[in-house]
Amino acid sequence: MNDSVAGESRVSSTVDFAANGKHFGRLSIPHSRDESGWGAVHLPIVSIRNGDGPVLVFTGGNHGDEYEGPIALMKLVRALDPAEINGQIIVVPALNLPAVMAGTRVSPIDGVNMNRAFPGRRDGGVSQMIAHFLQHKVLPRCDALCDIHSGGKSMYFSPFAAYHNLPNKPVMEKARAATLAFGAPIALELVELDAEGMLDSAVEEMDKTFVSTELGGGGTATTHTVAIADAGVRNLLAHFGLVDGKPATRESLGLPPTRMMHMLDPGCFLISDDRGIFEILVDLEAKVAEGEPIGQIHFPERPEREPVVYRAGKSGTVIGRTH
Ligand SMILES: [Zn+2]
Repeated sequence: MNDSVAGESRVSSTVDFAANGKHFGRLSIPHSRDESGWGAVHLPIVSIRNGDGPVLVFTGGNHGDEYEGPIALMKLVRALDPAEINGQIIVVPALNLPAVMAGTRVSPIDGVNMNRAFPGRRDGGVSQMIAHFLQHKVLPRCDALCDIHSGGKSMYFSPFAAYHNLPNKPVMEKARAATLAFGAPIALELVELDAEGMLDSAVEEMDKTFVSTELGGGGTATTHTVAIADAGVRNLLAHFGLVDGKPATRESLGLPPTRMMHMLDPGCFLISDDRGIFEILVDLEAKVAEGEPIGQIHFPERPEREPVVYRAGKSGTVIGRTH
């Protein structure tokens, strides 16, 4: 790794992560531009610490059009009293703040998808510098990280928490247990189409526990999906022993238990080769058999042409779609 990648961060923090108590601070990321020659992006970061228990990191707003994470995490840090916890939580409610403020998936400043920017660069653009700070200053401190996503403007999911099938089985087992503890309607063993540069991979490569979620989507949040996020972050505090008590089971709340689901391989994704209007033929939660039609593409420039039909590559349950 050369120095430009691994060298000291150019991001400064007003939070002392070693200090006890609740601290609302900010990262200052240099951003010299036409309107502000000596300017910076100020990115809120919160540390709540008491005692020597585990260190848990929560991130939301990794993509700027996914709202459950920022909403639940801002509520959590306002409500939590340091005396209630044994350990530390470090929370970045809006990891890609410029994207969150613009309501876009990627940063409007540099066009970077934060979840493809890891391990970041000390001398990169704003998003790369944020990733680099997390990689070198935050991840080494933590035992586990929960990154809260939803589908954004372009996707919609049946709400799930997820872990990855990892070669290191003890690490995977911890991630699986934490994913179940989150208490979403679905706990998914997830296969990525493109894991390079993800925060997920950065945490997993350090053999730490990583939990992700996809809690809905469509560029909005619902009472249902926010309630899942609110309960999930509290459940993880209990799961990791930062607060007393056990995670609240879904059954105890009168909800159906978490369904365990697996993606066997990338064949579970169905990607269109055609350009046109997408008509979905099955709804989320539909059970489909391999070969069953699940969508078709119409061609608005050629109305006489029959649509191209897309069929399920696997038998299973549909839990995600384009929006
Ligand atoms: Zn996302």
